[in-house]
Amino acid sequence: MKITLRPSDDISEEIMKEIEKQVKLVFHCPIAIKTGFNHLSLAYNAQRNQYLATKLLESLATSEKRHDEKIVGIVEVDLYCSHLKFIFGEADFNSSTAIMSLFRLKQEYYGLPADRDLFITRACKETVHELGHTFGLQHCSDLRCVMHFSNSLADTDWKEIYFCDKCRPKLRI
Ligand SMILES: [Zn+2]
Ligand SMILES: [Zn+2]
Repeated sequence: MKITLRPSDDISEEIMKEIEKQVKLVFHCPIAIKTGFNHLSLAYNAQRNQYLATKLLESLATSEKRHDEKIVGIVEVDLYCSHLKFIFGEADFNSSTAIMSLFRLKQEYYGLPADRDLFITRACKETVHELGHTFGLQHCSDLRCVMHFSNSLADTDWKEIYFCDKCRPKLRI
């Protein structure tokens, strides 16, 4: 099993290195960073000024993707899906692909002073959460489990980066 992180080029290498480090601590598997995930315009909805997450997932499931590979696209743009105003991320179990957005994870988005560490912690939790879905995990009722659904950032900040005792065995890693 390997995990490939596919950031768009506007995300700094430094941020990606931090995410890579923390994701590795959780999953203990090889992690690659492959830049160049920039063809986002196919998912753009001008009326909403947002990007349809499902479309981006489809574009990650290319023929080059290995069977045992999990791919997470990481973007700075705002994502939505058909029934929600916005989403932090989305994943597809069948294709083992996931997408997550940094757009709403920054304090500045809410008019607050920047907090780099908090931003990175949130990004790591959301990446691990979406990867959890690619292993077939569903949302968890444990508020501290990384698989708890984040309705808002308060949920993200409250949960840990780790899987709870019920979720972890389901990962089979
Ligand atoms: Zn989820
Ligand atoms: Zn759990």
